[in-house]
Amino acid sequence: MKGRVFSGMRPSGRLHIGNYLGALQNWVALQEEYQCVYCAVDVHALTTVQGEATKEIRSDIREMVLDWLAAGIDPQRSILFVQSHVPEVMVLHTLLSMVTPLGWLLRVPTFKERVRQMHETEEAVSYGLVGYPVLMTADIILYKADTVPVGEDQLPHLELAREIVRRFNHIYGPTFPEPQPKLTQAPLIIGLDGQNKMSKSLDNQVELAATEEETRQRVMQAFTDPQRIRRTDPGRPWVCNVYSLHKHFNPDKLDWVYEGCTKATLGCVEDKRLLAEGINCALAPFRERRRELEAKPGLVDEVLRDGASRAQEIARKTLSEAMERMGLR
Ligand code: ADP
Repeated sequence: MKGRVFSGMRPSGRLHIGNYLGALQNWVALQEEYQCVYCAVDVHALTTVQGEATKEIRSDIREMVLDWLAAGIDPQRSILFVQSHVPEVMVLHTLLSMVTPLGWLLRVPTFKERVRQMHETEEAVSYGLVGYPVLMTADIILYKADTVPVGEDQLPHLELAREIVRRFNHIYGPTFPEPQPKLTQAPLIIGLDGQNKMSKSLDNQVELAATEEETRQRVMQAFTDPQRIRRTDPGRPWVCNVYSLHKHFNPDKLDWVYEGCTKATLGCVEDKRLLAEGINCALAPFRERRRELEAKPGLVDEVLRDGASRAQEIARKTLSEAMERMGLR
């Protein structure tokens, strides 16, 4: 029998090439080997999105799911759904919170980092933010997923999920499989500012669904080697993010670009034009598919309804088992 993968993404609207190379591409590939459960984690989004901004969540889900489908996530083979459409996860979260020591949560390195980023104190942040890894554990084990694709930075979260599972199983008897990490060597894509991780919140991204013209305009704003001031100055491709992006989008032209840049026969403007062309060319089939999918009214809703119903069937069974173990049924 195939193993089961669970993975989630916050509904962040249209995805960018960092999301694709760092995560989505891998999601598509995993479908060959596993039964995959892919979730738009809208409840998780509420740890940082509040008030007026929550009005965007629904359209962000739609845009993101269109990207998933256009990239090759197959709703026949995989289960695609929205976290809050299967509310059993919130019940399981409450049950798991009864066996999770607070100290474990306060020690998670990303928790301290988040608190710092929000310019808050540990006392001031929401209870939901502290409990984020418990909800993540509930997400995974509600579907009895045995495999979770993670980057190195996510390993502490998964280790915590495994500890919660071990503790639950120890107290109430074997109920959940311990989810195993599947380490993915995903590249970290730097944004057009040449410094930070590509991210929508930093506005340094190239959207997968951008038009060819938008892509050209965005890429022309990219920072290259800051020491290359005049056209005749030789460049240093090893510090230039445009060069790094060529590795993904123009792999056959790498040597030529390297030589042209270091010998100053290729200018930055021309170099960026070449990158934009490479991106447009690589994404053309994706964009074509996305346009076709967008034109089908009700498609995303239908996919998500069907996904939620398949997910809920599994979720209900798991939850009643957990409740029974805990003396609630
Ligand atoms: P999360 O869902 O973890 O809050 P995001 O919405 O930022 O994160 O991204 C969704 C997925 O895309 C995650 O798996 C994340 O690691 C990946 N990702 C995001 N930005 C980049 C990037 N610049 N380079 C590589 N991978 C990225």
